[in-house]
Amino acid sequence: MTVAHRPTSLGDAIRLMADPVAVAVAGCTDLLVADLATGRRHAAVVDLSRLPELKGVREDGGVIDLGAGCTFTELRRDPLVRSHLSSLAEAAATIGGWQIQNRATLGGNIVNASPAGDALPVLLALDATLVLGGTQGTREIAYESFHQDYRKTALRQGELLVRIRIPRPSSTTWQAFRKVGTREAQAISKVVVAMSASLADGALRDVRIGAGSLAPTPVRLRAAEGVLTGRVPDAAAADDAASAARAEVRPLDDVRSTARYRRWALGNVVRRFVRGIRA
Ligand SMILES: Cc1cc2nc3c(=O)[nH]c(=O)nc-3n(C[C@H](O)[C@H](O)[C@H](O)COP(=O)(O)OP(=O)(O)OC[C@H]3O[C@@H](n4cnc5c(N)ncnc54)[C@H](O)[C@@H]3O)c2cc1C
Repeated sequence: MTVAHRPTSLGDAIRLMADPVAVAVAGCTDLLVADLATGRRHAAVVDLSRLPELKGVREDGGVIDLGAGCTFTELRRDPLVRSHLSSLAEAAATIGGWQIQNRATLGGNIVNASPAGDALPVLLALDATLVLGGTQGTREIAYESFHQDYRKTALRQGELLVRIRIPRPSSTTWQAFRKVGTREAQAISKVVVAMSASLADGALRDVRIGAGSLAPTPVRLRAAEGVLTGRVPDAAAADDAASAARAEVRPLDDVRSTARYRRWALGNVVRRFVRGIRA
């Protein structure tokens, strides 16, 4: 039999999570699928949906601070997200269908640690920091260090992801998001890419590109970033960045796509991003 806990404060949730058999549940859209596939049963689940500390989007001294329990519907509708984190709003609108977006949380997408998680490249591109809470207290970790290997994260036993903090992009920061799947909607990504950059005197600065479904974890495309930094975003820069991106990844063939297609699509997305940059 499964014991279901429904704490109403983060402190209570953390105390319940100290039980080594306890499993955190947010929207349950990943957990349910995994449990059905494996026949796994849990002795104790801790429902995170009533924790006020995991809710809401707020602006906090130059940072957009997102609750790990925010659903993708909440994120894509939120005025702060729409005006400052347009790439996250776009990603939120491509995750599953409306029913999934109504339940699935940003925190679940992160902790589930699928390399195809659509919000994850955005967090790389926007340099997110994660706030984790456990019995030892609260700690912060750069999102870039969180996914360590396939489905392996820096989360310690019993810890919860509480908030996601993203430096508020300046008004001149350009952002883009693109998911490539088998069809326009309701598809798992073959390739998913997000980019942010700013323009100073016509040249690109602070270029960050995150990509998913290409490696055991989401990755930064550092070679492509390097090619673009200091360049005018013209057709030649777009082609060079596309070539660099294709050369720096080692995608796999799997049920969703071939490595060859992934590499080709990635280059096209990066090229299109750069060609779309406007001052
Ligand atoms: C039909 C369908 C379509 C989908 N389409 C997409 C898609 O297009 N793109 C995409 O990226 N994903 C997709 N998903 C996957 C899933 O919806 C997302 O990954 C979602 O964000 C998971 O969030 P959740 O709140 O449901 O997580 P849950 O299933 O509740 O949890 C997932 C994992 O994270 C842990 N967890 C959750 N929250 C926390 C927390 N705050 N602290 C610590 N641990 C936590 C849980 O213990 C569990 O291990 C789809 C799923 C389904 C069923």
